[in-house]
Amino acid sequence: MIATNLQNLRDRINEKCTACNREPGEIKLIAVSKFFGIDAINEAKSLGIIDFGENKAQELRDKFELIGSKVTWHFIGTLQRNKAKYAVKAAEYIHSVDSIQLAEELNKQAEKLDKFQNILIEVKTSEEESKAGIYTENEIVKLAEYCREKSNLILIGLMTMAPFTDDAKKIRKSFSDLRKLKDKLNNQGFDLKELSMGMTNDFEIAIEEGSTMLRIGSAIFGQREYSKDWRQL
Ligand SMILES: *Cc1c(COP(=O)(O)O)cnc(C)c1O
Repeated sequence: MIATNLQNLRDRINEKCTACNREPGEIKLIAVSKFFGIDAINEAKSLGIIDFGENKAQELRDKFELIGSKVTWHFIGTLQRNKAKYAVKAAEYIHSVDSIQLAEELNKQAEKLDKFQNILIEVKTSEEESKAGIYTENEIVKLAEYCREKSNLILIGLMTMAPFTDDAKKIRKSFSDLRKLKDKLNNQGFDLKELSMGMTNDFEIAIEEGSTMLRIGSAIFGQREYSKDWRQL
């Protein structure tokens, strides 16, 4: 099933890229493997997937112990400071930096491991209460400036989640707001290259709006079964 899903997904990504004059090679496809087991990850890997995304620090830690650095790990979920060390150990990219306190802890952990940690700032581009990330531009600039000063952090871009809605206009606005914010920061001397945006239900709009990192779970692995433990799959 993963093979067919992936074929369909890659076809859709390629079609959308052709339609808006973009190169598929400039977009990283991150397979979001949360709630799925080691077999599913290995299968996706055998089909050419290199990048995997997880949203819980312990789950990432445990999967990293089993799979290691054969794949590239991305941490995409809310991160508590006391679990920052797991994310730094396993993940080449941390997409969800949303406070100075977290950035400080990530830098400390990265220093310990003598590692340069790629990070993205998570921006809240919708009014949905449930969405994480920073809201005001002023705060985002402050955090970006803070990260730039830190020896072991490499700020590479911005991440967002669009609102959960069928209203394509609202989704598009969320993504275009993120792109504009990136351009604005770059005009102020930052060098942000990545826009992490687009999931199963909205990745085509994200590609049109300039996404460089798609985080896609169910379109690859199928529906998540939240009642099951990934270790038993
Ligand atoms: C789960 C998750 C995704 C993937 O969601 P799908 O709808 O299954 O593609 C992407 N980003 C984040 C932050 C997630 O938690």
